[in-house]
Amino acid sequence: MRRSFWCQAHSFPEEVTALKAQKPVPNHSRLVSLAPEWDPSTCLVRVGGRLRKLQNTDLGEIHPIVLDPKHPATKLLIKHMDESLLHPGTERVYAELRRQYWILQGRQAIRHHQLKCPSCQRWRA
Ligand SMILES: [Zn+2]
Repeated sequence: MRRSFWCQAHSFPEEVTALKAQKPVPNHSRLVSLAPEWDPSTCLVRVGGRLRKLQNTDLGEIHPIVLDPKHPATKLLIKHMDESLLHPGTERVYAELRRQYWILQGRQAIRHHQLKCPSCQRWRA
């Protein structure tokens, strides 16, 4: 999936503006607890701070890309992951996505998708 597709600027306009100007995100921001950082090489907001302590060489795992669960691209990503894993439980989809993405209220968003997914319902039945 192309990076520009994510349009984080639409989901987090204030945060993107602040971080680009090397300022902290506003206190009321949904992202404040993630200590978000601007990644100029990909033009994406990533999780910063505390996760850096983890010993891991994969940039995506240390600094997952922050995503809004309401964004259509995020919904597509969840759908795609659910399908490619053959409709497993919520935790499995969450764990796979977490290797690269930090979806706000991710578990809830995945559960929401799976409740509506016909294939998931078939497996559960
Ligand atoms: Zn499914």
